[in-house]
Amino acid sequence: MDDTIVAISTSMGVGAISIIRMSGNKSIEIANKLFKGKNLEKVASHTINYGYIISEDKIIDEVLVSVMKSPKTYTTEDIVEINCHGGITTTNKILELLILNGARLAMPGEFTKRAFLNGRIDLTKSEAVMDLIESKTESAREVAINSLQGKTFNMIENFRNKIKDLLSRIEVNIDYPEYYDIEIVTIDKIKEEISTMKKELQNIINESKNIKIIKNGIDTLIIGRPNVGKSSILNKLLGEDKAIVTDIEGTTRDIVEGEIILNNIKLNIIDTAGIRDTTDKIEKIGVEKSLSLIDKADLIIVVLNGSEKLTKEDKEILKKVNNKNTIVVINKIDLNQQIEKNQLQEFNIVETTTINDSGIDKLKDKIIELFNLEQIESKDYNYLTNIRQITLAEKSLKKLEDVEKGIKENLPIDMIEIDLKACFDLLGEIIGKTYSDEIIDNLFEKFCVGK
Ligand code: GDP
Repeated sequence: MDDTIVAISTSMGVGAISIIRMSGNKSIEIANKLFKGKNLEKVASHTINYGYIISEDKIIDEVLVSVMKSPKTYTTEDIVEINCHGGITTTNKILELLILNGARLAMPGEFTKRAFLNGRIDLTKSEAVMDLIESKTESAREVAINSLQGKTFNMIENFRNKIKDLLSRIEVNIDYPEYYDIEIVTIDKIKEEISTMKKELQNIINESKNIKIIKNGIDTLIIGRPNVGKSSILNKLLGEDKAIVTDIEGTTRDIVEGEIILNNIKLNIIDTAGIRDTTDKIEKIGVEKSLSLIDKADLIIVVLNGSEKLTKEDKEILKKVNNKNTIVVINKIDLNQQIEKNQLQEFNIVETTTINDSGIDKLKDKIIELFNLEQIESKDYNYLTNIRQITLAEKSLKKLEDVEKGIKENLPIDMIEIDLKACFDLLGEIIGKTYSDEIIDNLFEKFCVGK
């Protein structure tokens, strides 16, 4: 981390302003070589300085240069940010000049990685930076900003402190059993504390499981025979004519994707090729693909034609989706009804017609109910924010269970201590108290350059 890194921090394209950011102990010196204006090596920290970027006596651009000296910066290193006029050529030219003068092009996420390695932020905050940039809904943004403010960190740190406290009390009892004035940690007391911790951690994990839905949305599959009204329902949901609606069977061959926001949660909707026995090669691929998507979807909307009796294909589809998060939509209720509703009793049913909006509203309400979206929306977003964190928390919980088991089996106290320490370390991995280079590299690789 001895070198000075540089990257364009704004998105590449034509815009009013671009920002080029440098971090490292040579950043002020390098910027100063190209800057005409005040001597940047002499200006006060956290100042914005007006001047020009010059190369071989030619003005490259009129700029504002922010100088932020270590340690109160994003990376804790000296940081220089050059605000230049937006546009690809100017921005690239300045970047090139900074590299020629000794800076190195930053890797993806390298600024944030330095902030982490230099101890300014923990891993959960580093992840929150990326989540914030990528958030597509208000709820996802709120989760990210809470985590960036330290809520995830505090939640885990509080938990670790409880374990640390219990560990130290156990140790005092083992090491100084002759001291009368210390609290005796009986096995019953440990059992009781572990049981409370287990419940607390389980709660955190359960609540955090909504995180996939909050961050990525609900992957929703619309499935059914050709001509039952899948594309019409999709269009009504999306409020646009995205899918082609025709009365020739099998027209939606491709998988159409669209997004809507329901109670601040994204619904990623996929309309599939109509399911039926088919010999048409292209259509067959579509049918197979839609069946294979059943397993990956969070929600499956099976559309049936209410004006017809259930067919073999309908029953086939219903069999495949059984036990999934499924809503069965009986469509075309404006027509004379033939469908045998008594055969659908085990499913969540919504009756619709696409000739007006009322049925679609009922469908949206059903989705909100099924996924508890009203509750998710009103929650204080205090979560573990990704699978990495949740998996580590689950492993920690497993260690607490091992502690309980150890107590039950009358294992020696130092064996119990080992599991408790392992739990403490696993929780430490969530916030990055212990980490491997590989994990860190993997994590920051996903970042964008310049962040
Ligand atoms: P898909 O093949 O399942 O995607 O079905 P489409 O959405 O393409 O619809 C097939 C045909 O059914 C079209 O002619 C639609 O206009 C018609 N249709 C769709 N929904 C309804 C409905 O609620 N009532 C009636 N009467 N016709 C509908």
